[in-house]
Amino acid sequence: MSEKLGKHTTAVHAGGVIDRSVGGVTTPIHTASSYLYFDEREIGYPRYGTTPTQKAAAEKIAALEGGERGFVAGSGMGVISTTLLTFLSAGDHLVIQRGVYGGTHHLVASMLPRLGIQVDFVDAGKADDMAAAMKPNTKAVYFETPTNPLLDVVDIAKVAEIAKAHGAFSIIDNTFATPVNQTPLALGVDVVLHSGTKYLGGHSDLNCGAAVMRAELMERFEDTFHCTGPTLNVYDAYLLERSLKTLALRVERHNAGALKLAEFLEAHPKIEGVFYPGLASHPGHAVAAKQMSGFGGMLSLELKGDAKTARRVVDSLELFHHAVSLGGVESLVCFPALTSHEKMSAEERRAAGVSDTLVRVSVGIEDAEDLIKDWGQALDTL
Ligand SMILES: *Cc1c(COP(=O)(O)O)cnc(C)c1O
Repeated sequence: MSEKLGKHTTAVHAGGVIDRSVGGVTTPIHTASSYLYFDEREIGYPRYGTTPTQKAAAEKIAALEGGERGFVAGSGMGVISTTLLTFLSAGDHLVIQRGVYGGTHHLVASMLPRLGIQVDFVDAGKADDMAAAMKPNTKAVYFETPTNPLLDVVDIAKVAEIAKAHGAFSIIDNTFATPVNQTPLALGVDVVLHSGTKYLGGHSDLNCGAAVMRAELMERFEDTFHCTGPTLNVYDAYLLERSLKTLALRVERHNAGALKLAEFLEAHPKIEGVFYPGLASHPGHAVAAKQMSGFGGMLSLELKGDAKTARRVVDSLELFHHAVSLGGVESLVCFPALTSHEKMSAEERRAAGVSDTLVRVSVGIEDAEDLIKDWGQALDTL
């Protein structure tokens, strides 16, 4: 079939391999790390990501993002570090959003200057700031949207346009939105990256990453990857390909549950404020509505009261686990001040808008009514 398929159809069918010798309808796990020389076939080798099981997962994520080529790796940081090493060299300049994932921030701030790469952190939501940061040697622009933990929204097409006007690559980490809610390549971005550990895996039992880009860029990426080598083993590649089949199904449910919970919390007298791009009150709502087909499963909130009050509510929740990470079928809560933003000083955290009482919520796929009831009873304990 040549016409464009829907997201659910793509999630189920793209990249899947049927082994005709046995006829099973799921992609087999090919464990070999050595392959025969025969025919004209590409030789499989796990570190190159060229075994059939790895290729199946890579093709599925590429199809979902609407990109030419995909690659799967052993972690999100594996693809992020490999991408930066691919497109930046000594003497180049990188413009990067201040609020990116903590691990990315640490990598960029601590390692790139050592390699002779200049870095400027900016507020990517302000197109003027971003354009003003561009220099003649700017090689790449790197950003996320929505961001962690305040769900700030960045205009993807605008960032891609600024990068293009300066001859720089645009690179986005699409972990929070997933290709079900937004497809940045269609908006002009060059490279899409994922921590597959979150929604792509979706069951909190997998550590992996993925990259999608056009073929000519992927050749360069693969050349670096063959040297850096953060491989995804075939067992986990299988699990990723299997999990991706339900990505659209899961994300649509995450979207619906998060919107309902956000609306409930926003109207609750004990809540000071809710950050969710799907709420009309969110400053990024208009841009989000333009570039996203759903608003995602992540939200954060401020309670009325101090850190002790917030801790009491979190401890009173019964269905929400107090745990790190996000994007799984089960609902989670955490305090970003104690997790993702723990390495920052109190001052830096304040500047980033991350208070000690801010609670981040990863809304799972449970019944929204149950999740709302759970928050209701936890808030009643105050
Ligand atoms: C978790 C995360 C990462 C890092 O991914 P790993 O799979 O843990 O290496 C990168 N970006 C975002 C937005 C994340 O949430």
